[in-house]
Amino acid sequence: MVIMSEFTSVPNSSQTQQRPLRVGFYDIERTLGKGNFAVVKLARHRVTKTQVAIKIIDKARLDPSNLEKIYREVQIMKLLNHPHIIKLYQVMETKDMLYIVTEFAKNGEMFDYLTSNGHLSENEARKKFWQILSAVEYCHSHHIVHRDLKTENLLLDASMNIKLADFGFGNFYKSGEPLSTWCGSPPYAAPEVFEGKEYEGPYLDIWSLGVVLYVLVCGSLPFDGPNLPTLRQRVLEGRFRIPFYMSQGM
Ligand code: ATP
Ligand code: MG
Repeated sequence: MVIMSEFTSVPNSSQTQQRPLRVGFYDIERTLGKGNFAVVKLARHRVTKTQVAIKIIDKARLDPSNLEKIYREVQIMKLLNHPHIIKLYQVMETKDMLYIVTEFAKNGEMFDYLTSNGHLSENEARKKFWQILSAVEYCHSHHIVHRDLKTENLLLDASMNIKLADFGFGNFYKSGEPLSTWCGSPPYAAPEVFEGKEYEGPYLDIWSLGVVLYVLVCGSLPFDGPNLPTLRQRVLEGRFRIPFYMSQGM
């Protein structure tokens, strides 16, 4: 695979330790998040003191298809350069581990922000949503679909600007060549995904964007339910509540 040859080695990481305290020129400070196959750490460059996020993947624990997904995530991130998308700085690889060094979003997930502070005002939501749209439009113009847009993957930097993260379900698409893999989180998934149909990649993101906008303005999910069949039915019906405080104008 071409991207492999571009990976640099990891000069200082302690490969035998379970949790290395140092990766390349970075000192690990704390855990930022955990995913299915990865742990994300906050780290600081030993010389410049710049803070970064490092996604650490134990390759030995991944089957070939998930490993391929991770390499695709890296391949996609390498192509993207946008003010509202987490920037890839460096990829380091050893026999067992993969370290993906990216820009650090200091204020964490939009999901946690909404949990602590409640929904945004419509004015604030408009500004954030504009940033989200510009990031997603940029991806689509590069023939990339995200397929996991949700408030957990919308991070906030030190100035509370949006940084789109987690291209773990990202893929390349060509218009007229639909995709079919079930992707993303059920409350954000489009009807065609629930129906198991093939779908045009960007349309999937656009549905999720609508759900994101609702969550920003209302602080709750438009489609929810105690189980997957109920959720599916609500999504297919396309009915959702509009809270009393939402403005009337178009
Ligand atoms: P999941 O499967 O849960 O989506 P994942 O393995 O794909 O996880 P990410 O979504 O990339 O991993 O990261 C997991 C979490 O770590 C994020 O939701 C966020 O809370 C935190 N995180 C990831 N990258 C950054 C970053 N650059 N800055 C700050 N926090 C981050
Ligand atoms: Mg994620």
